[in-house]
Amino acid sequence: RAKELGGRRVEVFAAHMHTDVVRRLELAADLQRALLENQFAVEFQPVVDLATSRVTAVEALVRWWRGSAFVPPEQFLGPAEDTGLIVPLSEWILKESCREVAAWRASSWDIGLSVNLSARQITAPRFVETVSEALAESGLPPSALTLEVIEEMLVDDAGETIQRLSELRRLGVRLAIDDFGTGYASLAFLRQLPVDMIKIDPSFVSGLGHDDTLTLLTRTIVRLGHDLGLIVVAEGIERPEQLELLREMGCTRGQGYLVARPMAARGVDTLMRTSLQSTA
Ligand code: C2E
Ligand code: MG
Ligand code: MG
Ligand code: MG
Repeated sequence: RAKELGGRRVEVFAAHMHTDVVRRLELAADLQRALLENQFAVEFQPVVDLATSRVTAVEALVRWWRGSAFVPPEQFLGPAEDTGLIVPLSEWILKESCREVAAWRASSWDIGLSVNLSARQITAPRFVETVSEALAESGLPPSALTLEVIEEMLVDDAGETIQRLSELRRLGVRLAIDDFGTGYASLAFLRQLPVDMIKIDPSFVSGLGHDDTLTLLTRTIVRLGHDLGLIVVAEGIERPEQLELLREMGCTRGQGYLVARPMAARGVDTLMRTSLQSTA
């Protein structure tokens, strides 16, 4: 009886593994097709200066509509990384977003761009050249581009990654640590790489005002960032009291659904027009 049960368990496990493998292969094939058929899009989420409420930057976020189903980046970025498709996809995202932001800047809107990097993208053969090309082709000045990395990319054998990012920084590109505070290398990271910005993870921001520990930790990160001369961005602002507390703490910038959701380029066009009107 035990044997029978055990046998059945193996069968169930194998069947489950089978569908899992098939699903992953399908996803890989679909990703490849999606890239060829231009199914990807870039959305932009505004980032505001907390003291003035002005939009100072946008973060590029990749979007994929697989037929009529929206697939969240967290579901396809891993497989894209495993298959290597992340390299051409990331190049497209970078060039597309640099082009859009350069056009907004040409309309005399002083705005910066943040782009998320993937681990495999950074160590790909032509990474530094690709970033330089994106800047040259779009006319975006290097100082208007911030590249976001997460702590995990700078641990274990990260020598090459650090070297390439440092090279870009010497060209004038800015570097940010995304999801700051969630990795186990936050502080060591700051010593290894000349970064310009830290982005406080939403898991801290979510506790602002009702969780004393998270509020204290957020305050500490803001102070640390300032003491190091860094721009501090709070991510995932959803409620007015979070915004108030961050302002009071002196956090430099804010991003989140309360401020603005990620939007297509056309949405940013509208935002730019109202923003230029209010400064005129
Ligand atoms: P991230 O870089 O930390 O980006 C912020 C994520 O939080 C985005 O999710 C954004 O839509 C979401 N968000 C912004 N404000 C709020 C808020 O107030 N509440 C909540 N609950 N969420 C908010 P998204 O677009 O799903 O992206 C998830 C992650 O996928 C990103 O996290 C980033 O790590 C990665 N990613 C997105 N686009 C790209 C890309 O073009 N390239 C690479 N390599 N990674 C990307
Ligand atoms: Mg990011
Ligand atoms: Mg983040
Ligand atoms: Mg994230």
